[in-house]
Amino acid sequence: MNMVKKRVCGLTSDEIFDLIRPDGFTISHAVSVANNVYKKHRSDISLFEKIPKMLKVMLSTAAVSGIFFPKNEIVSEDKSVKYLFSSESGKEFETVYIPEGRRHTVCVSTQSGCRMGCAFCATGQYGFKGNLTSAEIVNQIIAIPQADKVTHVVFMGMGEPMDNLENVLKACKIITAEWGLALSPRNVTVSTVGILPGIEEFLKASDCNMTFSLFSPFTDERVKGVPMEKIYPFQKILDLMKQFNVRKGRRLSVAYMMTQNVNDTDSHLRELISIVKGSSIRVNLIPYHPHFRWQNFSSSKERMQYFKHNLVISGISASIRKSRGSDIAAACGLLATGSPIR
Ligand code: SF4
Repeated sequence: MNMVKKRVCGLTSDEIFDLIRPDGFTISHAVSVANNVYKKHRSDISLFEKIPKMLKVMLSTAAVSGIFFPKNEIVSEDKSVKYLFSSESGKEFETVYIPEGRRHTVCVSTQSGCRMGCAFCATGQYGFKGNLTSAEIVNQIIAIPQADKVTHVVFMGMGEPMDNLENVLKACKIITAEWGLALSPRNVTVSTVGILPGIEEFLKASDCNMTFSLFSPFTDERVKGVPMEKIYPFQKILDLMKQFNVRKGRRLSVAYMMTQNVNDTDSHLRELISIVKGSSIRVNLIPYHPHFRWQNFSSSKERMQYFKHNLVISGISASIRKSRGSDIAAACGLLATGSPIR
């Protein structure tokens, strides 16, 4: 009978310890195994270093590293790279590497597709093919050629993280643990369109940053762009974010995708200011990236600057996110595994 080999990627150090303990190995051996996978990105167990020979023999029989490489890639003019992964079970999902000076960000997917159906998002129109495991999420960071450089991780690729919370929380744990990728939780941001119970659990269970996609500060408009508004109104999400005792350095923010004549009027600005003012929530203004299913245009740079200026003089911390990778359909809202990458 063929024994199914355990995959090390996706396991915590305690779970690796459970695997090797019956053969007399210790927790520090488990940490060395985790380091080989998460810090050194070694996909072949025979190349693992700083572990006893007997452990290597035992592991080679019982396990595989679990690292699998992208199926395809496409490079943007701005040096962002979009990768296409295909899991053993056939799920396809995309990952974007974004270099910016000393900052090297990986934008990971949490699902293949998405079931939230946001009008402005290509992923939403692609449909839902399945949740990614914690291993498949972490693999997107350690299996790309730039893995050694990564300083930041954002959960802003395909999928709604709060719709796959268990795997997202485990991935955050592996990414921030000393025995794992050892990134600071301050450098990890999880994005959501607003699933209230998931957000509550996430804020309690993780120290990572969170950003909430608002789209419009008016309920009747938001419901047209983000169907989840019908179930979890944005006011309740903002109330929860405001009540939450934010530890030093942790960022809770609102992402506001700006679309010309849709959500960038003065009344939108006034309302945006009024719902965020007086809290520690930051506002991140994002240009809209048009795709064929939602025929609108991004607000102009001047309009975005105007919003930023007015937010800042109202005492709200605000920034404008640069557009990256739009020529390869790698920018926000464009991931749908149907772009030139194939
Ligand atoms: S914006 Fe996010 S939650 Fe909405 S459809 Fe796109 S991927 Fe899903």
